[in-house]
Amino acid sequence: MMALIPSKEVVDVVLEAGGEPLKLCYQCGLCTATCPWNLVRSFSIRGMVHQSQLGLVDFESEDIWLCATCNTCVKRCPRGVEIIDIMRALRKVIVEMGVAKVPDALRLSAKNVSVTGNPLAELQEKRADWAKDLDVKPFIEGTELLYFPCCYPAYEPKEKGIARATVGILNEARVDFGILGVKESCCGDLVRKSGNETIFRRLAESNIKAFTENGVKRILVSSPHCYNTFKNEYPDFGGNFEVIHSTQYLLELVKEHRIEFAKELNKRVVYSDPCYLGRHNDIYDEPREVLQSIPGLELVELPDFREEALCCGGGGGRIWMETKKGERFCDLRLEQAIELGAEVLAVACPICMCMFKDSQLTVDKGESIEVKDVTELVHEAI
Ligand code: SF4
Ligand code: SF4
Repeated sequence: MMALIPSKEVVDVVLEAGGEPLKLCYQCGLCTATCPWNLVRSFSIRGMVHQSQLGLVDFESEDIWLCATCNTCVKRCPRGVEIIDIMRALRKVIVEMGVAKVPDALRLSAKNVSVTGNPLAELQEKRADWAKDLDVKPFIEGTELLYFPCCYPAYEPKEKGIARATVGILNEARVDFGILGVKESCCGDLVRKSGNETIFRRLAESNIKAFTENGVKRILVSSPHCYNTFKNEYPDFGGNFEVIHSTQYLLELVKEHRIEFAKELNKRVVYSDPCYLGRHNDIYDEPREVLQSIPGLELVELPDFREEALCCGGGGGRIWMETKKGERFCDLRLEQAIELGAEVLAVACPICMCMFKDSQLTVDKGESIEVKDVTELVHEAI
């Protein structure tokens, strides 16, 4: 049954929640033509935008939860419609006005973030356990760099290697850095993009307070989602910090000869652009330059790359939801990499890593290829 709320109210709520550019849409349909969902099933994002303009949204439709916030459609829209803001607003109407059911997986993950400060429901006091046996000091006023690993490398066993490799490199380069550990929480990107604005604001305020009280000026992040949130969204809440992604920082260290490679990595590697590094923040060259600086490594491009790169499917809270076999973008991407004869699929995002590691288990010959973060590859070669 369609869950409709009065049309003027829908339009007002969407506009108030950031859907102002809705008015600009002239229904050309380019967004639908470019949305990756149409590679695996039909999904009309143009239709969704049109329904929102008319105030006739079917809030029970599962289509509302499909958008992975990959930014492909936004980049192509000739009218500059911020389609992700519209989807975020529609989700917010459901989450905060209760007009329809929120998918169970999203509801549970948002609750975990709200209660424990991370989507994995791990204890806050264990947030720095990944660094227990490493040479890592707590961040104190005057430390040059804060390393913020993201919830996944902090807690998820399959991803801790990203944080541990980062620390290995920072120590090798004698960087003055520290971590906030139990004082930090999830950046809040995925809860915000899945409609939980209230939880997001609480997380943003808490992190901004922790950064400010501890005298943080420069933050190194492993996740493009943390990067985008700290750099482009926290300033709206009074948080202004210099943010640098690991691939940008690694390139700095390579160029300044602060790390030297001691080993060859004779492997054929493909790099999958993460949406929040590439299309959201135009960082395409740095990860490639870092990979190409590793002796012996052969970098091969996937069929679609840089601005055209296919999303892994995990953004916008999709990482928490079940996606049917045959509809997973990450499976398609892994198959492309295997087809190219790549031995390693390199990522620069913990969300991509989680998605691709799942694909390794389901895609034919999935285990024939390794999934590694750029940071891990650099660490292996120094
Ligand atoms: S591409 Fe932009 S203008 Fe065209 S239908 Fe989509 S939102 Fe509207
Ligand atoms: S942001 Fe990506 S997934 Fe979402 S509607 Fe646009 S193209 Fe589709």
